[in-house]
Amino acid sequence: MYDYIVVGQGIAGSMLSWFLMKANKKVLVIDKLNLSSASNVASGISNPITGRKFVKTWLVDEMFPFAEQTYREFEELFKAELYHSTPIIKLFDSVKAQNDWSARCALPEYLPYLKNENIIHLDNQKVKNDFGGFEINGGSQLDADKFLLNYRNLLQQKDALLEEEFAFAELKVEQDSLSYKGTQARKIIFCEGANAIHNPYFNFLPFQLAKGECLIVRIENFYPDKVINGEVFIMPMQKENLYYIGSTHEWNYEDEQPSENGKNELVGNLTTVLTAPFEIVEHKAAIRPTVKDRRPFVGFNPEHPNVGIFNGMGTKGISLAPFFANHFTNHLLNKESLMNEVNVERFL
Ligand SMILES: Cc1cc2nc3c(=O)[nH]c(=O)nc-3n(C[C@H](O)[C@H](O)[C@H](O)COP(=O)(O)OP(=O)(O)OC[C@H]3O[C@@H](n4cnc5c(N)ncnc54)[C@H](O)[C@@H]3O)c2cc1C
Repeated sequence: MYDYIVVGQGIAGSMLSWFLMKANKKVLVIDKLNLSSASNVASGISNPITGRKFVKTWLVDEMFPFAEQTYREFEELFKAELYHSTPIIKLFDSVKAQNDWSARCALPEYLPYLKNENIIHLDNQKVKNDFGGFEINGGSQLDADKFLLNYRNLLQQKDALLEEEFAFAELKVEQDSLSYKGTQARKIIFCEGANAIHNPYFNFLPFQLAKGECLIVRIENFYPDKVINGEVFIMPMQKENLYYIGSTHEWNYEDEQPSENGKNELVGNLTTVLTAPFEIVEHKAAIRPTVKDRRPFVGFNPEHPNVGIFNGMGTKGISLAPFFANHFTNHLLNKESLMNEVNVERFL
């Protein structure tokens, strides 16, 4: 008898299964390998200050240190480098943006995330930055695909992974237990990312999925140690002069595949920032599990208290997943209350 079946091994299912196993629960993860999942395609950036108004990320003071601690533990465990503290240069697009930023500099809660109050200027031969920019402290980047592969290997070693497409017809849910293809478990928790829109137990949740496309480009003699954030992110991949360019947000899309429109949008936006020549090496796409109110989905089906969900990581799964997987685990094992903002009961 398993304590938990976790469906999905993206960043959400990986984190949740990890915290449950750390608490000595017997867990089976069911996942069909998808190298084009959102978690595999993500750039892996966690940015403490975002948007046109330079707003502090929700829960950043608690969430970012917790994510760092968690990923550093995995680096130890896997004996691999996965997590990089990375300065992020946010470019101004106007004098108004400079003024908005100056106003933020006056707020004490922003100070830990601002390198200093100087406007910095990058080399114009490489980056168009007429209004300059500022340096954000506390940003990071996870090699998400490498993490997922290492974690998958760990699950295999522990005999805790079933590699297949989950079939709802095979799930039998009873009052206090359930079974999947004859395997018994106390609870099942779905972490299917965007595929959750087909989940019959959670069709009341307002997903608002967003396709994202990105490019991998080669740029010679560029900035290898900072992320540059203008109309797009230009993120060093720490190998072979490769940079990740991301990403598009599209709510009306035909399929999950990289598209000509997506590529043109990225190239167009990139050329508003990058003045150096570049060569496109790869073009990828995935669907983000975004949510109307931009908060995760955590909790249980109202009629089946043994059928749960951990999803809705939207555009920020890398920082949200560790923190809320731990939060959900504390709720499951220690009966701690779920935060109202993430509890799926907010939609009942
Ligand atoms: C282009 C792009 C760039 C991004 N950049 C960032 C970034 O820089 N920082 C950040 O924090 N976030 C970023 N994101 C968002 C991030 O990718 C998501 O928040 C996160 O990956 C969602 O993780 P997940 O585990 O919920 O879903 P997924 O990664 O989609 O994982 C779901 C898993 O469940 C499996 N699965 C689903 N259904 C079934 C089934 N029926 N049977 C078996 N297996 C199943 C899938 O195969 C997959 O492995 C980006 C997303 C995109 C598309």
